[in-house]
Amino acid sequence: MTTVTRFAPSPTGKLHVGNVRTALHNWLLARKTGGQFLLRIDDTDAERSREDFVEAIRDDLAWLGLAYDGEERQSQRTELYEREFQKLVAAGRIYRAYETAQELDLKRKILLGRGLPPIYDRAALKLTEADHEAKTAAGDAPHWRFLLDHDQPITWDDGIRGPQNFDPRQMSDPVIRRADGSWLYMLPSAIDDIAMGVTDVLRGEDHVSNTATQIQMFTALGAQPPRFAHEALLTGAEGKLSKRLGALGMADFREQGIEPEAIVALLARLGTSDPVDPSLDVPALAASFDLSRFGRAPARFDEADLHRVNAQIVHRLPFARVAHLLPEGMGEAAWEAIRPNLAHIDEARDWWQVITGPVAASAFDDETRAYLSQAAEVTASLDWSADPWRALTSALKDSTGRKGKTLFLPLRQALTGQDHGPEMAVLLPLIAQDEAIRRLKA
Ligand code: GLU
Repeated sequence: MTTVTRFAPSPTGKLHVGNVRTALHNWLLARKTGGQFLLRIDDTDAERSREDFVEAIRDDLAWLGLAYDGEERQSQRTELYEREFQKLVAAGRIYRAYETAQELDLKRKILLGRGLPPIYDRAALKLTEADHEAKTAAGDAPHWRFLLDHDQPITWDDGIRGPQNFDPRQMSDPVIRRADGSWLYMLPSAIDDIAMGVTDVLRGEDHVSNTATQIQMFTALGAQPPRFAHEALLTGAEGKLSKRLGALGMADFREQGIEPEAIVALLARLGTSDPVDPSLDVPALAASFDLSRFGRAPARFDEADLHRVNAQIVHRLPFARVAHLLPEGMGEAAWEAIRPNLAHIDEARDWWQVITGPVAASAFDDETRAYLSQAAEVTASLDWSADPWRALTSALKDSTGRKGKTLFLPLRQALTGQDHGPEMAVLLPLIAQDEAIRRLKA
């Protein structure tokens, strides 16, 4: 059976690092085995869902390179939910209840006060048809609960957490539909996972108790539950779930010059004990993706790590990938020469300026100026197509007896206006010969 995974965001905000990690892991899990990765927009909450967030989710996934093999929207699937709902009502697995939020709150407080778990007492199950009629006559609309089967222990072998056991007697029958007919997340999600043929549900551990309930829903709907795996949540660098983590969207990273490949490389490994591999080889990343490598401790997301991985990625990006982002005229040789010196692609601009000039002239003492004018003379006689840096420095070494830093540094400073930078051997041929002479004379 092919693996089918899905990413099911609610479009009530921008994707943050945690959501993106979930999306990526589902994508990798599907890619690993040539399966399918689906996008499901969980927009049953009409009030909080927004079209611009749907667009932003699609844009972010596209930017990250997480192509999906299909997209569904819950708001367009309500007929299916209605049908399945009616079947479950007919089968006695869904029942009407009328308690207000205040009444439920009071019940919970009473139970807690007696040292008991705050489980819904199923009072509504005892209502007779006459009671329901009276409620309706009084203008009371019911909300709906899913009846858990108390005799059916809930177990699954979690892909990350291992064997899980839940006693349905210790759980409340979940409300699945509001009095106004709108859906809560739980039942539509199970119905969709069945209809979409989802084989693997991989999501955050905040969904573990939902899974316990949903497993009974799958069974009640006549389906085999998918495999489940729940990842430990992400924390900020400071050790707790940070507000900043939730505030950091992909647009912010884009603006900071973070490349999608860096986010993919880092988040693919975050939560495992495996080192981050700053590789552009996505199939290899997918092939090595393994749920059993994930631990149960919260995974720590540190922006400084992301910047480090980003630099490593930039150093590997091929010219074709960045050409449209580079300054006019900058070619492959220049990109490859300066790439190891960049933390962000847009810094290519500064080095292109160094190559094309003008560069600021440095202040030198008389002795160094004499050395540089000698260098200018040698430069004028060089064949620029045959390793001019090597030819220049070996000629100067012989004629002046200079070596090491005293040989190289004044040349670098005069030629680039900088103390550090790309290898001169690759940089110098990119600077025009007459421009190099001009800089050495300046
Ligand atoms: N819309 C749900 C959420 O964002 C989906 C959870 C799930 O993966 O089933 O939490």
